[in-house]
Amino acid sequence: MSAADPSSLVVTASPQETSDWGRRIGEICRPGTLLALHGDLGAGKTRFVKGVARGLDAAREEDVTSPTFVLMNLYSGRLVLAHFDLYRLDRVDLETLGFYDYRREAVIALEWAEKVEEKLLGDHLRISFEITGEHSRRLMFQARGKASRELLDRMNLFP
Ligand code: ADP
Ligand code: MG
Repeated sequence: MSAADPSSLVVTASPQETSDWGRRIGEICRPGTLLALHGDLGAGKTRFVKGVARGLDAAREEDVTSPTFVLMNLYSGRLVLAHFDLYRLDRVDLETLGFYDYRREAVIALEWAEKVEEKLLGDHLRISFEITGEHSRRLMFQARGKASRELLDRMNLFP
């Protein structure tokens, strides 16, 4: 990360707060928004994506589940949401996964993005989840490109 990359931290005190941050992003996502989600098991990535889906009017939160076993779930709302989880993959071939079929038109939420970090070219919003207590999580948002900087600005993290 260069010093010029803006980053923002928020702390959540419940799963609901984490999904609310996702919803706020989902409400303002544009075609081509890529959310690269980093963090350990249980850190809150899937909770966050539930909120993104709700913000896009793409699914009810209870209908969004981890795609750990199917690799990708699709939800359609204001935009299509393609939800990937790389957890079980050793060697990740984004092309074979169909990632690029969704890169331009859809919103992509990618769990375990650390597995493809060096291959994630193009504008994206990196969000790292850290477990800071039984019910608390720290989310760090880092814009990687112009579109994701604008997304962060429009999110108005600290109004
Ligand atoms: P991941 O997808 O990163 O593996 P999940 O979202 O599936 O993680 O699970 C997060 C777990 O942590 C859930 O069981 C949730 O209830 C719990 N949790 C506790 N506090 C929080 C919080 N502040 N934000 C998100 N999840 C939380
Ligand atoms: Mg998950």
